[in-house]
Amino acid sequence: MINLIKEYWKRFRHWQRTPYEVPPLSDTQHVCLNCGESFNGQFCPRCGQSAKAARFTPKHVLANALDVWGAGNRSMPRNILHLLFKPGYMIADYLKGHRQPYFPPFKMLFIVVTTFIFITYIVHYFYGIKDDTQTREIQFEWVGSIINAVAINMVNDQSIDLPVSNNTVNTRRQKLVTGIHNTQQWLDSHRAVSILIFQVLFAFSAWVCFRNSPRLGKLTLSEQFFAQVFISSQIIILSFIYFLFSLLWARGGIDTLPTPITMAAYLIDYKQLYGFSWWKTIWRNLKLVIFATFFILTLSIVAIFIALMVIMASF
Ligand SMILES: [Zn+2]
Repeated sequence: MINLIKEYWKRFRHWQRTPYEVPPLSDTQHVCLNCGESFNGQFCPRCGQSAKAARFTPKHVLANALDVWGAGNRSMPRNILHLLFKPGYMIADYLKGHRQPYFPPFKMLFIVVTTFIFITYIVHYFYGIKDDTQTREIQFEWVGSIINAVAINMVNDQSIDLPVSNNTVNTRRQKLVTGIHNTQQWLDSHRAVSILIFQVLFAFSAWVCFRNSPRLGKLTLSEQFFAQVFISSQIIILSFIYFLFSLLWARGGIDTLPTPITMAAYLIDYKQLYGFSWWKTIWRNLKLVIFATFFILTLSIVAIFIALMVIMASF
């Protein structure tokens, strides 16, 4: 029994580490229906049309209709499977040039985010839950409270330096607070965009901590960004699975992944992606969290400072 499990584990590990294998070229002769070229293989070497192109059947209608949403593409289910069971290895393969077997990461993120929001919305609708943003704001509550405190302090400081009435200060503070609130709401309703903005900032931090690794060698910032986009999709897929399970104990489900699961996912992703030892990966992840928090907070404070300058100038 134990030997059997060991055997399966060994095979699983082998599957994880091996890049997707492209099926061999077929010997069958094809004549391209588009340009008339005769050739061996799946695609016409002259114009790129698939050898499978033929008169339309109901199957084609379905496949083409699904293709609008990317679901007709065989690689989307593969992306999901690989992102769940060999995320880091898959991303490393993709970065090294195994592009064709996988669905493009940006398109995937938008599809995954849209689907997730749509399904949680439907579920909430059936439970009669009004879709408020309360649960999502909790995640960033501590960041928000620090930013608010800094912003209000800065407005107050300005009131000492400048001979302005209390009324003006209040208006300025209100403008700033409304501005922050509006920004938060906008980011909330454009989840895919806010994930991308966050990932740009996070990618920079991750790149600083992991740019030289055993598996990928010298990494560029763009490559790190592509990796982050894949990881975002993975986290949303995990959130979706967690959401479905949480329906068992929470009314209407929980649409955010618990922090320990997110951290574990990141740890496994980075371990497989960069090929450092476990301890080195954990250490670098710690550095990453500290660096990213510091970096994103600094940027937020700078952004608020600029907003404040604009508001001041408008008086
Ligand atoms: Zn052709």
